[in-house]
Amino acid sequence: MDPTLDSKLISEPVETKKWKKREESSSYELVSYKELPEYMKDNEFILNYYRVNWPLKEAFFSLFRWHNETLNVWTHLLGFVLFLGLTLTNLIQVPQVSDLLALFTRSFPMSGDINVSLDSLDLFVRTTTNLTDLNPEPDVTTVTRWPFFVFLAGSMFCLLSSSICHLFSCHSQHLGLTLLRLDFTGITTMIITSFFPPIYYVFQCDPKWQFIYLGGITVLGLFTIVTMLSPALSTKKFRGFRALLFSSMALFGIIPGIHAAIVNCSNPRHDVAMAYELAMAMFYLTGTLFYVSRVPERFKPGWFDLAGQSHQIFHVLVVMGALAHYGASLVFLDWRHSHSC
Ligand SMILES: [Zn+2]
Repeated sequence: MDPTLDSKLISEPVETKKWKKREESSSYELVSYKELPEYMKDNEFILNYYRVNWPLKEAFFSLFRWHNETLNVWTHLLGFVLFLGLTLTNLIQVPQVSDLLALFTRSFPMSGDINVSLDSLDLFVRTTTNLTDLNPEPDVTTVTRWPFFVFLAGSMFCLLSSSICHLFSCHSQHLGLTLLRLDFTGITTMIITSFFPPIYYVFQCDPKWQFIYLGGITVLGLFTIVTMLSPALSTKKFRGFRALLFSSMALFGIIPGIHAAIVNCSNPRHDVAMAYELAMAMFYLTGTLFYVSRVPERFKPGWFDLAGQSHQIFHVLVVMGALAHYGASLVFLDWRHSHSC
């Protein structure tokens, strides 16, 4: 056998592999804003580190690479994991963990809420008492928990769909647009489902208001989702309009919000719930301002390509707003646990 032929047979696949590797690495290099196709040009203040037309597998593994979407993906992915943990904790009601998380989410220094862990333990004890005791205490009621879980599910859906959108929208124009709509649907779902715990528990003794307010926000939310699904409205030209639609849903909450605040006065911990809801409103409002204004990158284009850009700040504020609302929901749940109509 010709030894040169033999070496060719061995060296050829190595060469091919090398070439392929070089080709792969050059195809999946990060590009600048100027090199982007027109449909991907969204934020002219983020100058570098873009992924363009990456296959799904490469896009998935870019979860562990630095590019200008890395922190956008991780901020909401970690938020999703946090809410999944809170959901499971509430479902299985592990006292220690529930207590720890309750301590974290319920003891913001805005109340004289010293008995937080005791309350939570009390809630657990009362729940297990209900399940095991044949003669439960007469003043303790079994509280309806589905509105609380509706909110948790809505938050998880929003955070997960946002992470998926940021991770895979670099794949193609078609998928990018589809995922963007999924992202907007997620935000809308979170806004709608956030109304469920406060409205349901505060108006528990007057179901007509539950129906009017929860029905109203659901219809407005569904209208927003249908409007969002129109491809034209997903483009960057309509960023302001989308923010307006989201804000109008939040503003719709002002009427039941004021009404609920009045009814909620009979709740001994109404000030704690109000403080949480006020914190939530501030987080969401500030987040929206960052989203629309694209501060700080507009002042120093290119400086915040990897970290510190407006969208990442918006993401973090969304998670904090949802956590504040979770805290308020626990207060409402606690209240209805001990006070029925
Ligand atoms: Zn986002």
